[in-house]
Amino acid sequence: MCDSTAGCSLSGAGALHSTNVNLAKAAQNGFLSELAPARVAALRPHLRPAELAAGALIHRAGEPANYVHFLEGGLARTFAGSSAGNVIGTSLVGMEGVLGLAAVLAGQPAAESAHMLAPGRALRIEAGAFRRLCREEADLSLAASCELARQNAELQIELGCCAHHTISQRLARALLAAHRKLPGEPIPVTQEDLALMLGVQRTTVTALARQLKREGVIAYGRGSVRVRDERRLETASCGCGGVRATAGSVGGWDHLERRSRTK
Ligand SMILES: [Zn+2]
Repeated sequence: MCDSTAGCSLSGAGALHSTNVNLAKAAQNGFLSELAPARVAALRPHLRPAELAAGALIHRAGEPANYVHFLEGGLARTFAGSSAGNVIGTSLVGMEGVLGLAAVLAGQPAAESAHMLAPGRALRIEAGAFRRLCREEADLSLAASCELARQNAELQIELGCCAHHTISQRLARALLAAHRKLPGEPIPVTQEDLALMLGVQRTTVTALARQLKREGVIAYGRGSVRVRDERRLETASCGCGGVRATAGSVGGWDHLERRSRTK
């Protein structure tokens, strides 16, 4: 749930009923920019802008997601927990991504928590309105399914990465991913944040980050990391990547969009 007291707020009083989201703005999100204009036009009357502060809770595991958020800037992270109470980061989501999709489509509590790591903004649609549109618009429903398939493929990659790659490689990969989603900006993470994301002890992250700093790969201060040598960070990373570039192979996205854009 996006709670204004937690730092998430609509941009201006009365925005819920008066904001007119135009196509150019909608295209800033990866999912929306790949959607055929007719599908965006169906969504547009329901999309509302939201400013998302660092730390803003998007939705909490075990609770319904009240909105689908299409990020247009900033960086979000998702966490899943175990029955033992441990948590681990499951994904970093930038302006390419969508939050709350699985829980909203299923009408079920969210499996993961999501909140903002770096402040940003999103277009969001109320859960019931999105489900209704998906029932009415077969191509929108298919596009949402493709996005879910992409997110699932990324989770499979994450699972393999956790099982087979070293903590050092995973740390480099996480920093590289965050750096590329926030180009030119410092990554607003503490070593505790990174430890939580990787599911390891903070002291482990401290030692590894110190090594990367000594080698001139990163610099860090209070609550932020800056990448100084992207190429060497890439070399230090395991190389596990996202799947957006190959989303067509995951869910037939390219085929759908070629067909939709002719309508
Ligand atoms: Zn990996």
